[in-house]
Amino acid sequence: MRIGVIGGGQLGQMLGFAGRELGFDCVFIDPSPTPPAAAAGDVIAAAFDDRAAILALARDTDVLTYEFENVPVRALESAAAEGPVYPPLGALSSAQDRLAEKELFESLDIPLPGWHQVDSRADLQAAAEKLGLPIVLKTRRLGYDGKGQVVIKDTDEIDAAWQALGDSDLIAEAWVPFDFEVSQIATRGVDGHIEYFPLTHNQHAGGILRYSRAPVVSEPLESAARRAVARMLESLDYVGTLALELFVMDGGLLANEFAPRVHNSGHWTIEGAATSQFANHLLAVAGDRPRPAPARGHSGMLNLIGEIPDSARDVVDTHIVLHDYGKSPRAGRKLGHITVTADTPETRDAELIRIGKTVTGSTPRFETRE
Ligand code: AMP
Repeated sequence: MRIGVIGGGQLGQMLGFAGRELGFDCVFIDPSPTPPAAAAGDVIAAAFDDRAAILALARDTDVLTYEFENVPVRALESAAAEGPVYPPLGALSSAQDRLAEKELFESLDIPLPGWHQVDSRADLQAAAEKLGLPIVLKTRRLGYDGKGQVVIKDTDEIDAAWQALGDSDLIAEAWVPFDFEVSQIATRGVDGHIEYFPLTHNQHAGGILRYSRAPVVSEPLESAARRAVARMLESLDYVGTLALELFVMDGGLLANEFAPRVHNSGHWTIEGAATSQFANHLLAVAGDRPRPAPARGHSGMLNLIGEIPDSARDVVDTHIVLHDYGKSPRAGRKLGHITVTADTPETRDAELIRIGKTVTGSTPRFETRE
């Protein structure tokens, strides 16, 4: 089985490594000839909108998938006429536009924060009045890791926010004073069978994921998150792995956004679940059934952003694994991650705090109510 993957970043690399264990060959398209995924399979250097290259990859492989949700849908359309492209393009186009994403959540009765479409300065004023400040103004497309977002706390900040983002199509969201953030990752097979990963607790700073911990032991939250994801997977006739990010507030869930791909908050599944999100994604797109993925003990993940200090190599142990994606350092760039596995949540958290302090110099806050 040859699987064509659009995108050769760290997600592609981890897909490629999982593919090797399953006996699948992954071939990647990436603008760089030597992206992280080059460590895990052949790379065709081409732009993400290079339709001819994508079509050639579709002809040379059994199925196409992607690890990056900003691949232009139009570039994949002719490939989809040649053979399967999973996850389906409808899921990709909803995930590319925050307006379409919110309409999808609403159509499926998945609760979400209040929002308002913003196409003009007057719309922004109306959003502030309707939703009440603070609000978060976000670009509808191409935002990631908190980029393309401005928080407006006071009416005198509206003009500056409009100046900063007014050139793009926008959406305003009510600010959610959440207790904590979670993600529910699941994989659906071609036959409709769904396997769920344990609910994961996520901690962001500056819009970037810093720590993930799993499992979150809360039956009501996990079943509500699973119900929401199941509705999405079924309505999109989804094949592959999907991640839904949610805010937890007053014991309820509000959907923030979803990714039609493997997700940073699921990296811990490589060591910490019976099947990883990467393996299940490949099994599903290859037409096989995704496998059960219960947690193995308690896992935590720490992202390495901007640099991988030597201390990150020094902390490695039997239960502490470093993943170095082989990328060149740059401020704000995800270069690797460390996974901790432990027998109890207390030991896991103590280890993550120790590693966080040693490696990043900052102490995570794990005092959230779960
Ligand atoms: P996003 O790119 O939309 O996932 O936003 C990145 C992070 O910013 C989220 O994971 C939250 O930590 C924070 N954030 C985004 N939108 C909101 C909101 N409406 N209320 C509170 N925090 C938010």
